[in-house]
Amino acid sequence: MTTLVVQTDKLLNNLRAVQTAAGVPVIPVLKGNAYGLGDVAVGKLLFDAGVRLFAVSRIEEAERLAAALPQAEVLLLSPYSTEAEARRIVASGVTAAVGSYDSAVLLNGIAEQCKVRCRVHFLFDTGMGRFGFLPEEAEKAAQAAKYLKNIEVCGCFSHLSNCFGRDRKGVFHQLALFTKCVETLRRAEIEPGLVHLANSNAALLYPQLRLGAVRVGSALLGRVGVKNRLPLKKVGRLESEICEVRWLPAKHNIGYGNTFRTRKPMRVAVVPVGYADGLFVERKKDTFRFRDTLRYGWQDFKRFFRKDRLFCEIGGKRAPVVGRVGMCTVVVDVSHLECSAGDIVAFDANPILINSNVQRSYI
Ligand SMILES: *Cc1c(COP(=O)(O)O)cnc(C)c1O
Repeated sequence: MTTLVVQTDKLLNNLRAVQTAAGVPVIPVLKGNAYGLGDVAVGKLLFDAGVRLFAVSRIEEAERLAAALPQAEVLLLSPYSTEAEARRIVASGVTAAVGSYDSAVLLNGIAEQCKVRCRVHFLFDTGMGRFGFLPEEAEKAAQAAKYLKNIEVCGCFSHLSNCFGRDRKGVFHQLALFTKCVETLRRAEIEPGLVHLANSNAALLYPQLRLGAVRVGSALLGRVGVKNRLPLKKVGRLESEICEVRWLPAKHNIGYGNTFRTRKPMRVAVVPVGYADGLFVERKKDTFRFRDTLRYGWQDFKRFFRKDRLFCEIGGKRAPVVGRVGMCTVVVDVSHLECSAGDIVAFDANPILINSNVQRSYI
């Protein structure tokens, strides 16, 4: 059976590494089923490690996590817009992100009907262009906090749009805008609560951005795109079992498209995993500016010369995948190692890409 193995020791190692480096509380971002790791399981693990505030992106995730961890606080990062959503937020006791005056009024009304105060974090749009009060609307946020008595401001945040290690200026511009928004609240005598801006990359790269807390997803998986000195460890390993070991003669094709042909007799292992499980799928190249096309081309060019092939591990030894990856099958060259049907084959796998039907196991 194919299983996604989640190495909890590595996950906790990554949490500690970020906590130590940041020196402020870490808010784990468990959106997308905790980046594919399993949100409830990971939430419980991190709760036991002392975490009390979590963040997610969708209301159903927030409800699920709040129900599983009644002692924790769950911050819903994305805004809501309908009355039904506001009711769900109030009913589940989730902390809402408020990014407009109208949504503040809506939530306040529902909270008043239910005779509760709803905890909120104000969300400012300092450059991502998705949601939040614009910096010039910070005064409106202050008004909302002042006059709407059934919402309680416990925090303020914004999200960085270009924090990949190359655009320092842009990152600090967003910090400056965000700082102004927070100051506007303070000037109106609204206590901003917990202020947070940094995602994983920013938490690792820029100490000045750590503020009151950092919101971290990919660093917990040990899969960040920027160079850093933290002892992060990659979480996520897809395991399957060899279903057959066989010899192929020389000059025999393997896989669709005849992209691989044996030069001499080759011993191969057939493994029942593939695209259907999310193995070796990639995110699509999703920008269409000419310079990005050039950049992608350059990356592919370099990869070709590095002979960036796909590998797996059998009995602790590396073995290359030969031929194209199929929907449910890959073939591995095992000429150089001892193995037989039933042996475990392990692939490094980013959990976010692994099909949610694949069983998760926590070790
Ligand atoms: C996803 C997300 C994060 C975490 O991003 P990472 O780069 O994975 O650490 C932080 N804040 C918001 C608002 C997010 O949507």
